[in-house]
Amino acid sequence: MDLSVPGSSGSIWSEAELMPPAADDVTKAARLRFYGELAELVTSGEPSVTVVVDDAPSVKDRIEACGVPHTEVDLIVVNGSSVAFDYQLLPGDRVGVYPVFRSLPVQAKLRPEPPLGRFVVDVNLGRLAKHLRLLGFDALSDGSLPDRDLAEVSATQDRILLTKDRNLLKRSIVVHGYLVREVLPKDQLAEVVRRFDLAPSIQPFTRCIECNGRVGAVAKAEIDHLLEPLTRQHYDDFGRCGDCGRVFWRGSHYDHLAGFVAELRRRV
Ligand SMILES: [Zn+2]
Repeated sequence: MDLSVPGSSGSIWSEAELMPPAADDVTKAARLRFYGELAELVTSGEPSVTVVVDDAPSVKDRIEACGVPHTEVDLIVVNGSSVAFDYQLLPGDRVGVYPVFRSLPVQAKLRPEPPLGRFVVDVNLGRLAKHLRLLGFDALSDGSLPDRDLAEVSATQDRILLTKDRNLLKRSIVVHGYLVREVLPKDQLAEVVRRFDLAPSIQPFTRCIECNGRVGAVAKAEIDHLLEPLTRQHYDDFGRCGDCGRVFWRGSHYDHLAGFVAELRRRV
């Protein structure tokens, strides 16, 4: 550790504080580093300042004693964690002091915007894939795909890769991915909807839960021969999956699913 204490004329440090720590004071030293424009405000002219901690000073007092008004400070990090102004310095503390971040350059964005509502879902998140389809989102999930292909499908088809396998997400080919944290499928669904701001794009019952195909309206006469007598008698509005041909109608199961969607909307 650099224990030198820069001195300069006009410093507001007391003489005792400007003295390099004595041998028995080395263990009482804390180090402050000022970042960005704050470095120019430090009285000593140096971005790093070592101080002796012998009277439980607040970090605010020590920062201001270095010449930096607290109003200029937006973030203080001590040993990796942000702290408040009244944090009391301890021997050995390493303190980072940051200015207000007025803007971030947009060209620094690490990747383009993710594709809206297009996913490829790891096989062990199969329930999540079905829930996403229930909300109308395009959620590819195929148990026959090995990990390698999941990453490739994500890249070549511009899909967000959803998985609980962080090694899969470390592959450089994956541009858009998300490590799912929640355990229960319903919680995972809310997590993903929030993460990708999907709530405004929810279109329930427009996609086949089983195969991910689009579901479109179909005339009763076209599928009449597929219906059970009671279904034919009680229902007139039907949908059919354009891929697998499954027929859907608003039967008793519909109320349960509609309730599921309504609860999800409340949570996000
Ligand atoms: Zn289908």
